[in-house]
Amino acid sequence: MKVLVPVKRVLDYNLKVRVKPDQSGVDLSNLKMSMNPFDEIAVEEAVRMKEGGGGHAAGAASEVIAVSIGPQQAQETIRTALAMGADRGILVQVDGDVEPLAVAKILKAICDAEQPGLVILGKQAIDDDSNQTGQMLAALLDWPQATFASKIALSDGKAAVTREVDGGLQTLSVALPAIVTTDLRLNEPRYASLPNIMKAKKKPIDMKTAADYGVDVAPRLQVVKVAEPAKRQGGAKVKTVQELVEKLKNEAGVL
Ligand code: AMP
Repeated sequence: MKVLVPVKRVLDYNLKVRVKPDQSGVDLSNLKMSMNPFDEIAVEEAVRMKEGGGGHAAGAASEVIAVSIGPQQAQETIRTALAMGADRGILVQVDGDVEPLAVAKILKAICDAEQPGLVILGKQAIDDDSNQTGQMLAALLDWPQATFASKIALSDGKAAVTREVDGGLQTLSVALPAIVTTDLRLNEPRYASLPNIMKAKKKPIDMKTAADYGVDVAPRLQVVKVAEPAKRQGGAKVKTVQELVEKLKNEAGVL
């Protein structure tokens, strides 16, 4: 079974986001970009399905394919996936923002061509927080979906997926081929070792364009405004309950 893992190049999660002065978006110039953290978890799970580990039998996945849709530099994101253990990559080169629907349409075309048994995506990209691509892809392919996975168990052409829902855990059984999206607690992704980073340089990456898949990536949504969150005010310690009550009454105005 082939496993397809879409990996997005996003602003590194450790960096503070700066809004452009004209409020048209986020300033990405000269900042470190990395693989979306939920996609690292997806790559880790797919590689464990190939190598064995995390409850998966070795060979459950025969091949792990990492796909990125983005600028030329998204090749680095694919190389990271290859260094973690993916076998080959596909870069669909698109400059500028690509909306989840366009990404899902491209991924659908890739699924039609590659026929994977499983697509593992992140539950959301930390840049746009859309949480849409996996769901849209499942709809376009008419495949079952299990989102926000904290555990995946494969057997007999099915995946039992445990999901974190409000107040507990839900386990779904989906027939393969299926779409799964990862939650934070599914696994702890590995760091690529230096020898594996070197080996990854020799693994193949197919270079494609959106036109190769007949997908129009023109935006359908218009961003009206991007603004910084309101600044938080500093906290203060009080010595007595009386002082607290007084502050709540006179300063916060909540009593
Ligand atoms: P989103 O719906 O934008 O929050 O993204 C959810 C997931 O879809 C991500 O975690 C990725 O696995 C995948 N994805 C979204 N955009 C891209 C992209 N441009 N290239 C590759 N994968 C993507």
